[in-house]
Amino acid sequence: MESEIKNKTGGISVETEHIFPIIKKWLYSEREIFLRELVSNAVDAVTKHRRLVSLAAAEESAAPYAVTVRVDAEAGTLTVSDNGIGMTEEEVERYICRMALSGALEFIEKYEGESEGAGDGIIGHFGLGFYSAFMVADTVEVVTRSYTGAPAVRWVCREAGDYEITPTEREERGTDVILHLSEDGAEYLKTARLAEILARYCAFMPVPIYLPSGDAEAGDPVNDTAPLWQRPAAECTEDDYRAFYHRVFADAREPLFHMHLAADYPLNFKGVLFFPKLSRGYESLEGQIKLYYNQVFVADNIREVIPEYLLMLRGVIDCPELPLNVSRSYLQDSAYVKKVATYIVKKVADKLTSLLTADRAAYEAMWSEISTFVAYAAISDKKFYDRAAPALLLTMADGSRKTLEEALAMAEAEGHANVLYYATDRDRQAPLIDALAARGLSVAVAPEMIDVRLLEVLKTYRDGLKCRRIDASTERLRTEEGSEDNARAAALFEGITAEGLTLRVTCEHLGTAAPAVLTADEEALRMREMMRMLAPEAPPAPVDATLALNLDSPLTARLLSGGYGEEEGAVARHLLSLSLLQHRPLGAEEMTALLKESYRFLTLLP
Ligand code: ADP
Repeated sequence: MESEIKNKTGGISVETEHIFPIIKKWLYSEREIFLRELVSNAVDAVTKHRRLVSLAAAEESAAPYAVTVRVDAEAGTLTVSDNGIGMTEEEVERYICRMALSGALEFIEKYEGESEGAGDGIIGHFGLGFYSAFMVADTVEVVTRSYTGAPAVRWVCREAGDYEITPTEREERGTDVILHLSEDGAEYLKTARLAEILARYCAFMPVPIYLPSGDAEAGDPVNDTAPLWQRPAAECTEDDYRAFYHRVFADAREPLFHMHLAADYPLNFKGVLFFPKLSRGYESLEGQIKLYYNQVFVADNIREVIPEYLLMLRGVIDCPELPLNVSRSYLQDSAYVKKVATYIVKKVADKLTSLLTADRAAYEAMWSEISTFVAYAAISDKKFYDRAAPALLLTMADGSRKTLEEALAMAEAEGHANVLYYATDRDRQAPLIDALAARGLSVAVAPEMIDVRLLEVLKTYRDGLKCRRIDASTERLRTEEGSEDNARAAALFEGITAEGLTLRVTCEHLGTAAPAVLTADEEALRMREMMRMLAPEAPPAPVDATLALNLDSPLTARLLSGGYGEEEGAVARHLLSLSLLQHRPLGAEEMTALLKESYRFLTLLP
C-alpha cells in the first residue's frame, strides 16, 4: 500500500517564500503560542474522530483518545502526537501545504494591518495556525495516518520553504507533528517550560493532554477536559467552584460568591464569574476575566467584553461565537460583545438580589466587602442600578443595614418622606446623630466619597428623593421656626475664626444639650472634599458655615447675658473649637490650643 505514495518535492509558491523569516522573527515575545496552535489542532483532530464515530462514519477508537507532548532532548525535537482523524497524502497537500499556509499569510497580513492601527493588535494571536511552528523550529515534520486506512505519509518542510512528501510507517491512526527546534527554541526542550505553557493555554481543552517527562510514561493529563463552565450549574458543587477558583486564579482566599453563566442562542456563551474577596482599600480592584474559545484559552483581561465597573470580577467566559481572529477594536465595536456585556450586567445584578433574598443576614455580613463595588456599579450604570436596586443597602448610624425602600419607608414613618439624612463620620458627628435620634430621626452613614456620590446619583435616579447631610443645617433640631441674628452674639464672636470657614453666628432654639452646633454648606463641603482628593497640596477654599448658638442651653444663655465676665471671649472661642471638633479633624495648632485652653479652664474650677 505504502508504495503507492510517490516521493514528491515541492516549493512554497514564490510570493510566499519569505513567510518563514517573517514568522520566525515576528511575535517573538509570544512565541509560546505555537504550542497552543499545535495542541489545539491535535485536539480538533480527535474531536473530529469522535464526531465521525458518533455518526457511525468511523470505527470506535480502540485506544483512549489522547494528545501527547513529548521532548527528545538528545534529538532536539518536540513532538505533538494525537490519535485523531489523521490525514491522507492528498489531505496533507490540501490542508498543510495550501490551506494552512494561505491561512497563515492571511493572518500575517491582518495582524500587520492591526498593529499599525491603535497598536492594540489581535487578541490571543489566534489564526497563525500550523505554521507558527516555524517560530521555534528549523524543520517541521508531519507523520500522519488517516482513519480511513489510507497509507501513512511523512511531510518534511524546512524553513527555506521547500517540502517533501514520502511514504512512511505509522501503526495507528493519528498524527505526529515533530519540531526540530532551532537554537533559540531550545527552551522548549524543558518539560517545566512546556508544562507552564500548557497550563496557560490548554488547561481546559476537551481531550486529555499528556506531558511525559524524560522516559517516564505519562501520568495524569495536564488538563481538565470537562471544565466547570461547560457543566450544568445543577451538577456543580460549592467545592467544585472553590477548587476551580483556586486553580485558575491562584488565590488562596475563598471567593465571596460565584455566578454560573449559560446564555442560549444567539449569545451562546458559557462562563463562571467569581466575586473575589478584596482586601480593604483599593488593593487589587484588578480582576481577571479570561476569554476562552471552545475551551481554548485566548486571552486575559478582556476589558471589552465586560463593563469597566465589573472588572474586579474574576472568571472565565467561553465564547465560541467570537471569531478566533479577533482584535480589540473588533470587540469594542461588536454588537455581539455588547449583548454579552449586557447579559453579564444583568446576571450580576440578579445574583445580588437573589443572594439578599435567600439569606439576608449572610448578605448583610458580606456587604462591607461588596458595597464599594455595588455603589460604583450603580453610579456608573443606571441599568445596573435599576436591576440591582433591591440589593443595594444603606448603612444606618445604629449599625443596621436597610435597603433603599426600607430606609424610605422609615423616613416616611418619621415624617420626612423622601428625605434621607446622612452623616459622613459616625464618630465625629455622634452628638448630632444622637440629637436627631432623640427626635426619632434615623440617619444613614456615608463614610467614603463613593457613598456620598452614590446618594447624589440616587437623587437623579429617583424622582423627589433628597439627601441631606446632617451637619448642613439645623432645620431638624430647631424647636422654633426661624433663626435670630443676634447683635450681641455677633459682637461676642467678632474676630473669632476657624481655618477654612467663613463664619456667621446665629441664635436658635435647638432643644439639645449642646450649647452650639456648627453647620456648613453641603455643596461647598463636597467640593472641598473633592479638591482635597484631587489637589491635596492646594489650600482649601473657604466654606460658608454657621455657628448656631443654642438659646435653650444654660451655658449659652450665661454667655449671651455677660455671665462670663472677662472670660467671655475665651469661652466663645472655646465653644467654636468644641463645635469644630465635631466638624472636621483639628490641625496641630488647633489641637494644641484646644487642649491648652481646656487645661486652663480646669484650673479655674473650685
Ligand atoms: P486551522 O487549525 O485554523 O484550520 P492550521 O494551520 O492550524 O489551521 O491547520 C490547517 C489544517 O491542517 C487543519 O484545519 C487540519 O485540517 C489540518 N491539520 C493540522 N493539524 C492536524 C492534525 N494534528 N491532525 C489532523 N489534521 C490536522
